[in-house]
Amino acid sequence: PLVLGIETSCDETGIGIVRGTTLLSNTIASSMEEHARYGGVVPEVAARAHLEELVPAIHAAVAEAGIRLTDLDAIAVTSGPGLAGALMVGVGAAKALAVALGKPIYAVNHLVGHVGADLLRNGAEHADEPLEYPTIALLVSGGHTSLLLVRDLVSDVELLGETIDDAAGEAFDKVARILGLPYPGGPEIDRAAQGGDPRAIRFPRGLSRPKDMALHRYDFSFSGLKTSVARWVEQRQDAGETVPIADVAASFREAVVDILLTKAVAACVDLGVPRLLLGGGVIANARLRALAEERTTAAGIALRIPPLSLCTDNGAMIAALGAQLIIAGHEPSTLGFGADSTLPVSEIQV
Ligand code: ATP
Ligand code: MG
Ligand code: FE
Repeated sequence: PLVLGIETSCDETGIGIVRGTTLLSNTIASSMEEHARYGGVVPEVAARAHLEELVPAIHAAVAEAGIRLTDLDAIAVTSGPGLAGALMVGVGAAKALAVALGKPIYAVNHLVGHVGADLLRNGAEHADEPLEYPTIALLVSGGHTSLLLVRDLVSDVELLGETIDDAAGEAFDKVARILGLPYPGGPEIDRAAQGGDPRAIRFPRGLSRPKDMALHRYDFSFSGLKTSVARWVEQRQDAGETVPIADVAASFREAVVDILLTKAVAACVDLGVPRLLLGGGVIANARLRALAEERTTAAGIALRIPPLSLCTDNGAMIAALGAQLIIAGHEPSTLGFGADSTLPVSEIQV
């Protein structure tokens, strides 16, 4: 089926068009620069940007795909989780488009969409190896840090654990700020870390002590790590010493990446699932990719990383999930659905 996907859960206005598992276009407009001076995404600013970007993005995606809107079999849209105001813009636009075209609409879960990105195999390196089930998925972005057990993309996704405070990307952004680096902090820290020693400072690995592992085996915490970095930096500054930014960045990055992969690999081993899929904007991190390769190889786990343009928020992954729902024979969503900022991952379609 030919599906147009609309994604507006955070600061990316994403419009994607797919035919089944074939990617036809993936247009992304981001309001990231507008958030830079606030050091994080401002919901109201994001929602207004979606309102301005959506229609031009739809036109661009349709032109790039070489289709007409009337050719579409369905519209898919992110219903949640995400920023309520931002989601509402996409949901409203999707309903209007579906009604005007007389096409069915599929309201879907953003996090499951990240997993669906892996299906767009003409965009991926592992072109001839379809996603196998079950698979563990680690989704890491500015708003999410979640570990999922995916038994079936359209019918059975279970949340194993998630962050109990900050998301990993958020921690990167906050620590960058502590180090005086600009927003978004992830790429900045990644770059600064290149010349640093990851063993220079031993920062704490949240929720990884034996008693935490008993209670929060698959959950994450990055707020203590951030505080620990802030305190370390402050002490140096108070003593009039220069802060070794590269070493702090490398040591902090190592702590985040270590904890992410320790828990993801533990889930694979505990549950006997020899497959790990990564998604979300933090997957751009060079050290995360390298250590993921290393640890999954050592544990005999097959690692899948969609291309980066499909890891960050985008409409193509939403369209891909919509197409799978159609292929599996699911009914369209009824038009009464809304935007649910806390939609649980087990609700694949609303
Ligand atoms: P959502 O959480 O809804 O998916 P988001 O906009 O917060 O949305 P993304 O756009 O997928 O998430 O990712 C942005 C986040 O990824 C930011 O926090 C950014 O700092 C982080 N990031 C980007 N590149 C890197 C990198 N190389 N290393 C670490 N973090 C990175
Ligand atoms: Mg973003
Ligand atoms: Fe996302």
